[in-house]
Amino acid sequence: MATPRHVSQKRSLTTLYNPRGIFHEHNKTMALAVLKFGGTSVGDAQAIRQAAQIACDATAHYEHVVVVTSAMGKSADPRDNVKVTDMLLHAARAAAQGDAEAYRRARRLLADKHFAAIEGAVPAADDRWRIGEEVEQLLNAFETLCSSVCVLGEITPRALDAIAGLGERMAARILAGAIRGLGVRSEAFDASDLIVTDSRFQAAAPIMALTRERTRARLLPALEEGIVPVVTGFIGATEQGVPTTLGRGGSDYSASIIAAALDADAVFNYTDVDGVLSADPRVVPDAHTIPVLTAQEMSEMAYFGASVLHPLTIAPLLERNIPLRVKNTFNPSHAGTLIVYRPPQERRSGVITAVTAIKNVSLVTVAGAGMRGVPGIAARTFSTVARAGVSVYMISQASSEQSICFVIPRDAAPAVLSALRDEFADEIRRRDIDGVSSFDQAAIVTAVSAGLRDTPGVSGRVFGALGNANINVFAIAQGSSECSISMVVAASACDQAVRVLHALTHA
Ligand code: ASP
Ligand code: MG
Repeated sequence: MATPRHVSQKRSLTTLYNPRGIFHEHNKTMALAVLKFGGTSVGDAQAIRQAAQIACDATAHYEHVVVVTSAMGKSADPRDNVKVTDMLLHAARAAAQGDAEAYRRARRLLADKHFAAIEGAVPAADDRWRIGEEVEQLLNAFETLCSSVCVLGEITPRALDAIAGLGERMAARILAGAIRGLGVRSEAFDASDLIVTDSRFQAAAPIMALTRERTRARLLPALEEGIVPVVTGFIGATEQGVPTTLGRGGSDYSASIIAAALDADAVFNYTDVDGVLSADPRVVPDAHTIPVLTAQEMSEMAYFGASVLHPLTIAPLLERNIPLRVKNTFNPSHAGTLIVYRPPQERRSGVITAVTAIKNVSLVTVAGAGMRGVPGIAARTFSTVARAGVSVYMISQASSEQSICFVIPRDAAPAVLSALRDEFADEIRRRDIDGVSSFDQAAIVTAVSAGLRDTPGVSGRVFGALGNANINVFAIAQGSSECSISMVVAASACDQAVRVLHALTHA
């Protein structure tokens, strides 16, 4: 049964959002929060109990709570290293190669993991039994799908999506059972009934108008009854009902799609770290949790490999100005990182917020005095790179127009170099282009700062600090959002450059 909730005790959103924990009482009784739990947050029975407790606690602060879950990920127990989505996809691909033993073995491991979770996280015996039946059916579906893949000897993106999404369906049922076990009404919902997508399997895009309609039609009545819906992340379905996925790591995106559809007041993204860190702690031991980060700064960080949130997560929230807080399931009292859409007033402008790096890259240069004023060299350069199927991390061209340089993953460099030499064979023969070369021991270091656009002197401090440390900068680019500067440095200087720039985060 639901524990009685006292509306008058609900605290305002500002309470939860003020980084200093200052209380303002607005009695915002209709507030709705979406809580997203990542793979490790539901990685085993103990984690699921903790996630369920967090969801129940949220019902004391919010009138309505919606949970979105990933598939079960890594457990704290090192003997269980099963990441469910990885295992499903791996087994499906092995089946396409004719390996039937692989999916049978996967089924046993998946059954062990999920049944242990049910056993340890769902207290009521009848509930355990019912959820066990449903998980069994989903595992049967997995085996049936894999056996047809095995017979066909090939796997389509459509079949991969049907298989990949099974992990979230199992996890949602177990987490809902765990929440019920704590005395709060809860039910699992498959997002294939809520999120309508196009049919680009493995990277489907939501069709927002239809998604809004369906999500509201299904979830609002449940919320009115005081039910906490537990929605599967990662998955959707086409208008015809064919299952799709939003791409790897897509549960974050699911949560913000659902939040936008419901006009939620807040999203809490629960992971296994204390929010977004100012740098990689393996490189910078005193890296700290960033208390408040703008969405633009965040997107620069996602692009540069900080990999905290799926890159599309922010977009649906930004439109509706829904704040998002990244929190740690295993340290829930830590405030985490609040993502906002305008730089907070109390932030001193011009301060570096975070420093990130991409290693194992090559700096490719196309140079020659004869390039100057010749239209089309840049266009041909980048269409050649695109034809090679390589994406470019960063581009820089001097106004002298005598060289173009850009950064690509190191292992793509040989193919790109030879494609460019073919493309420009005539120009090279005529000496209009001296040649195409690459510097393969490179790294990109990026300083992220929302104040970059409005504050003079930030880049001065960045280059000054690198100069003082004797670190050579080979190329520079400023992010178009004007909240990051990226520099190419030698791979051997990368960690030191990150540390030197991180020192400016306190300045
Ligand atoms: N389970 C999916 C994945 O591993 C989606 C997610 O966890 O965000 O990619
Ligand atoms: Mg994730």
